[in-house]
Amino acid sequence: MTPAAASVILCYHRVARLVSDPFHLAVPPELFAEHVAVIARHRPVALTALAAEVAGGDVPPGGVAVTFDDGYVDNLRAAKPLLEAAGVPATVFVTTGATGDPAPYWWDELEALLAPGGGPQPPRALELTVDGETRAWPPGATVSDRGTAFEVWAWLRTRAPQSIAAGMSQVRAWAGAEPALVADALRTMTVEELRELVESGTIACGAHTRTHPLLGAHPAAVQREEVGGSRDDLETWLGTPVATFAYPFGRRVIEYRGSSVRVVRSLGFACAVTTDPGPVTARSPLHELPRHVVPVDLDGPAFERWLAERLAPPPGSPPLRRLAKRVRRDLRERLTPAGRL
Ligand SMILES: [Zn+2]
Repeated sequence: MTPAAASVILCYHRVARLVSDPFHLAVPPELFAEHVAVIARHRPVALTALAAEVAGGDVPPGGVAVTFDDGYVDNLRAAKPLLEAAGVPATVFVTTGATGDPAPYWWDELEALLAPGGGPQPPRALELTVDGETRAWPPGATVSDRGTAFEVWAWLRTRAPQSIAAGMSQVRAWAGAEPALVADALRTMTVEELRELVESGTIACGAHTRTHPLLGAHPAAVQREEVGGSRDDLETWLGTPVATFAYPFGRRVIEYRGSSVRVVRSLGFACAVTTDPGPVTARSPLHELPRHVVPVDLDGPAFERWLAERLAPPPGSPPLRRLAKRVRRDLRERLTPAGRL
């Protein structure tokens, strides 16, 4: 194992085996078990503890903080037992407006409606009119055609919740589907399940807004309501302080902006995490800690190599080839839409 120089925060979403996973959100349970075994051989650290190290100006190397976004029920059913058995702490960021809602997230429903496995595609164009704007996608648009699917997703996600709901009802009408009839495995946790998730102390909950908006597209007052509201919900439900926040989608400028950071800081969070990749050091900004979204298809040895690369010492004066490789990798991580929810 290469000696570690940095610490990192990992971002997962789901631990599940899905038939179709176009957003690359789900790590199959048997692979996640291998990831946990690798993490346990490094320095597993709770996110709040890592943030305290950053605040104290001393981050020992090799720290790995595990996080999950969005609060899917498989975090409780599949991830928690593995994490507890290995003594690996984790933080689950919860969209509190989705808590206890049997309906899935709109992007999961979009996938279910557009996926090729979901039945024949209607032979007509998918035409959506939202907020006075109209756009059409040609017949045969499917999620397997990532370009089109991500266009629909990207076109909707900047909007207010009621506008996204309006768009989704038009997608449903186009597909001839009932509203939000989706398997139990796609749903998020209930309040009772969140309590069960945190009861042993291995897993903590963090805030992730109420409706998962693209924060940067909304005024500061709306952002404050979303961010502070989700923390209030969790503190009421769990009876413990909630000190951490994850920006929905998570990339600076594209998906949140300076006003979002000011809102989060002013609400007194100990730290907040992004999905911009990078190492955590004593110089990392506490309210914009970088996170690596973990690729969903790595087995144990591949994950170990992937992790070692991210924990490796930053080269003092790297040969150009290595620098170019690092820049290419970072660009690829920033540009891949997968996993940024
Ligand atoms: Zn999210």
